[in-house]
Amino acid sequence: MSQQKRVRVRFAPSPTGPLHIGGVRTALYNYLFAKKMDGDFILRIEDTDSNRFVPGAEDYIIDALDWLGIKFDEGVGIGGDFAPYRQSERKEIYKKYVDQLLTAEKAYISFDTPEELDEKRKEINNFQYDASTRLQMRNSLTLSQDEVTKSITNGENYVVRFKIEPGEDVLVNDMIRGEVRINSSVLDDKVLYKSADQLPTYHLANIVDDHLMEISHVIRGEEWLPSAPLHILLYRAFGWEDSMPAFAHLPLLLKPDGKGKLSKRDGDRLGFPVFPCDWIDPNSGDRSSGYREAGYFREAVVNFLALLGWHPGTDQEIFSMKDLVESFSLERCSKSGAKFDFEKGKWFNHQYMQLKSESELTDLFIHELKEKHICTENKMILPDFSGKKACVSKEYISKVISLIKERANFINELWDQSIFFFERPETYNEKSVQKYWKENTSILMSELIDILEDLSNYNDGVRMEETVVKWITEKEYKMGAVMNAFRVSLVGEAKGPHIFDIVTLLGKEETIFRVKKAIKALK
Ligand code: GLU
Repeated sequence: MSQQKRVRVRFAPSPTGPLHIGGVRTALYNYLFAKKMDGDFILRIEDTDSNRFVPGAEDYIIDALDWLGIKFDEGVGIGGDFAPYRQSERKEIYKKYVDQLLTAEKAYISFDTPEELDEKRKEINNFQYDASTRLQMRNSLTLSQDEVTKSITNGENYVVRFKIEPGEDVLVNDMIRGEVRINSSVLDDKVLYKSADQLPTYHLANIVDDHLMEISHVIRGEEWLPSAPLHILLYRAFGWEDSMPAFAHLPLLLKPDGKGKLSKRDGDRLGFPVFPCDWIDPNSGDRSSGYREAGYFREAVVNFLALLGWHPGTDQEIFSMKDLVESFSLERCSKSGAKFDFEKGKWFNHQYMQLKSESELTDLFIHELKEKHICTENKMILPDFSGKKACVSKEYISKVISLIKERANFINELWDQSIFFFERPETYNEKSVQKYWKENTSILMSELIDILEDLSNYNDGVRMEETVVKWITEKEYKMGAVMNAFRVSLVGEAKGPHIFDIVTLLGKEETIFRVKKAIKALK
């Protein structure tokens, strides 16, 4: 029977702030599992805790997942057969289920004030509201029906608590962690409903909605594992055992260094984002940085996160979303925590940078170039350096990118690697000059200019190189003495791609101009 059940999974964040990168991974695994199983993926917003509600958080979650290509079939902002999907809009629905438990005497009403509870905590070590203490408290189990009714009509605040029978073995059969057994005696009588705001708590709303929305699998972070026995007992109390979803609790994301859970502070300390997108705290105005604004490609973030807690069983590392859907399985998720190796995240970005088409990279880089006031509308392939800033063509930019992309992890690192393709060196790096511009260098460079003047085919880097090397050999010059000084002339320092690749792109006129300029400046 359970085999035929349609796969329906949900991502159920509480809008209490920006979505942490661990939450993004939970959403991703739910999505991959749903797509793999031809099922439905639902976005449910769990906003019944009004004290912790943060404006903007819901929009942020939707925006971040949309950026990453984690798409929902149903939910907030999309709609669907089980709408509404925002729990604050489902108030009336929950009330009925609270009453059902009360009538069946599986829950009870309690009036204890925070002060009374504090008092008890002082009196009893490790106080827990459960079978051992509930009869000492002010609740519908100890008060008469009349007293209860009177308190309620007088407007006294109350909560509804789940009446957990002690001594019962609860078995969580987790798809990742295996069997986790717990005795109900260790659980407390959790609050399911608060009269003060007429809202259910997370536990009740979560179970009722999973049931009503026909959720088949609950895939969520490990921090929710301790709640699972309680959730199972709630399913039993409602008589919904047959439709109980399967559980899969994902391993924690751990600090890159040392032990413990990854936190925002680790990101600040080691300089990497722990959020998918930038987040501005609505109260403090503080900005927390996100992967999107830090220049990561969505594919890289998805790929990186997919492998933090799941293993394909092969040594393949690069996975498109489509590949991930094909390969994903909960069986291959690991029990133990996954170290958040952010250097690996950069590595993935580097890989995707190399995989991107030249035209896509060009479009992205043009954006940066415009900010540097480089004109990108040149009609000629050769760059025009006659103005203050170069004017270049799309084709030229694309060729520059193909020469340098191997050296960059991010689009915003391309400029540093390629500035000399867009601006003439105005100054020359002191160290490079000291090392490579000697007494006789200017003479060497003047001779080189003669060779360069004679060269005709500037499109053929290999031929040019042969000619120059031949001249150096015949003259018995040192290869390094010529080539390094040539490089300093063109680039301004001793870095950059293969020198004749640079020459090919700059063209005859600009190459010779720069060598002359260097001679003048460095003589
Ligand atoms: N609202 C819970 C959260 O914020 C959902 C936990 C679950 O998936 O059951 O993570």
